[in-house]
Amino acid sequence: MDFIILAQTFSKLEKITSRTQLTAILVDLLRKTPADVVDKVIYLLQGRLWPEWSGMPELGVGEKFLIRSISVATNVSESEVESLYKQLGDLGKVAEVLRQRGSRGGLSQFIKTASTSARLSVERVYDTLVKIAMMVGEGSRDVKIKLIAGLLIDADPLEARYLVRLIEGRLRLGVGDATILDALSICYAGSQTFRSIVERAYNIRADLGNVARELATKGIEAIKGIKPEVGIPIRPMLAERLSDPHEILSKVGGKALVEFKYDGERAQIHKKQDRVWIFSRRLENITHQYPDVVEMILRGLKCAEAIVEGEIVAVDPETGDLRPFQELMHRKRKHDVHEVLREYPVRLYLFDILYVDGVDLTLVPILERRKYLLKVVETSDDLRIADSIIMDDVNELEKFFLRAVESGCEGVVVKAIHDQAIYQAGARGWLWIKYKRDYKSEMIDTVDLVVVGAFYGRGRRGGKFGALLMAAYDKNSDMFRTVCKVGSGFTDEDLEKIPSLLQPYIIPHKHARVDSKVEPDVWVVPSLVAEVIGAELTLSPLHTCAMNVIRQGVGISIRFPRFIRWRTDKSAEDATTVDELVEMYRSQLKKVTEEKGEQT
Ligand code: ATP
Repeated sequence: MDFIILAQTFSKLEKITSRTQLTAILVDLLRKTPADVVDKVIYLLQGRLWPEWSGMPELGVGEKFLIRSISVATNVSESEVESLYKQLGDLGKVAEVLRQRGSRGGLSQFIKTASTSARLSVERVYDTLVKIAMMVGEGSRDVKIKLIAGLLIDADPLEARYLVRLIEGRLRLGVGDATILDALSICYAGSQTFRSIVERAYNIRADLGNVARELATKGIEAIKGIKPEVGIPIRPMLAERLSDPHEILSKVGGKALVEFKYDGERAQIHKKQDRVWIFSRRLENITHQYPDVVEMILRGLKCAEAIVEGEIVAVDPETGDLRPFQELMHRKRKHDVHEVLREYPVRLYLFDILYVDGVDLTLVPILERRKYLLKVVETSDDLRIADSIIMDDVNELEKFFLRAVESGCEGVVVKAIHDQAIYQAGARGWLWIKYKRDYKSEMIDTVDLVVVGAFYGRGRRGGKFGALLMAAYDKNSDMFRTVCKVGSGFTDEDLEKIPSLLQPYIIPHKHARVDSKVEPDVWVVPSLVAEVIGAELTLSPLHTCAMNVIRQGVGISIRFPRFIRWRTDKSAEDATTVDELVEMYRSQLKKVTEEKGEQT
């Protein structure tokens, strides 16, 4: 296919102002495109060489390089190219003008060999651009210049304009996926009637080039039966949001699968033999950030091929407790992933399976999919299935929700379990409803809590105490009621000292003045006081502080509590009281907005 057809289309697309025209121009282009290059044409239209998620290098050759290449190709000095660039403000235009002037390179022998003096074809342009994008390191400079100049020498002025913009990574025609889908259905399926089939194919394989090629080579019938392909991401199913639990349950048909809504990074994980891909919520390839997750999958997925979904969550290396999603940010730094692996470990909570060993599960109801998930996954400490229950009762839903928040989750996702509860790829629908907190009680101030028990640690803290069970003082009944388990914020030195500090107070049973539903590894006499801060005060069915005061069946707790220091100046009775915590909870209530959006 001649590259000039593409260049002319680019030029038309730049000028038009209506979306209908946009589609018409694309349909026209597709009609002129042979089936075996349609994928390349689609990628180039979007100014790229492959789908965004592929993780492959993209174009983006620097100005200096291009100026040199244009100079070599047109036999015009670099300073002249630069001054033209200053005038026109666009290197694409510069190349076009110089080719209009008829300047053709001949500066050196290598350019002569680079030029084939043939019309440029899409195939040649694409393949050369791929070579340029892939080339790195010393010595690649001259080869790149030779390749670019070679293309420019054979280019028409219009072709030169778009070649340069493509190479710079600045094509930016703004042709969206939806318009391409429209054009594909009109061109290959005859009309917009087949739009939903083409769209479903794209939702199942988020690769427009691949879908276009299947359509062009095999036709609409083949597209109807398209299956997920390992290595090509599926567009994720999204949840609606409601804040009334009654409404939520009735929306999903009265009975539902309710899962913890983990606060981490969504991951769609593909496995084919010993290869693993991890795609983010936005379908970026994030495999390199999580070598540990790759390992978990290879170890824990008992099948040859699969596509599963889950949430990657940061965990405290010492206590195993969930950590806020911000801690995953350490994984975004490209260079020292292996170093951060130990410091910021993660756990994977799987909640869905979309494909396994040749079987497309996207149209299978959720409880069936879950059976597959349970069958295929061998769980371990770091690879788990999302906590869930099946329920039809609002009170139970509320309790489960609070348990989720208490465990460091954002709330729950309520999922319909009827026969039509398929995986709606690429859609936000009522089959999944997220139920997050409407209010949160931000912790502005620290509290002083009493140690009433202790837990043995794990990891580096194996065999030592890793966390403490903390309580507030209930003045009215002279009791200590638990608030939280603190495992973070301790320095190594603090940890060293815990056994000797606790030793005099350890007793074989719960102290008579302690009210606790939680069972620590050792009980202690309420005596030691520590200053603690957390992200917020939460309601929890696990802790007995202010039980039934704010709401029936739940007490007040602290989300993500951290030890600050010992308050040796305080006795147990001087600790923060239950009444004070109730007061703090009430006065610190804040309307929750889209937290994640605000933080990122
Ligand atoms: P959305 O994805 O709905 O546009 P968002 O990206 O802000 O919004 P949330 O509002 O946090 O995400 O809700 C949906 C997200 O919840 C999912 O994309 C997924 O990352 C996460 N999640 C955590 N646990 C689960 C679960 N058990 N089932 C489904 N999603 C879960």
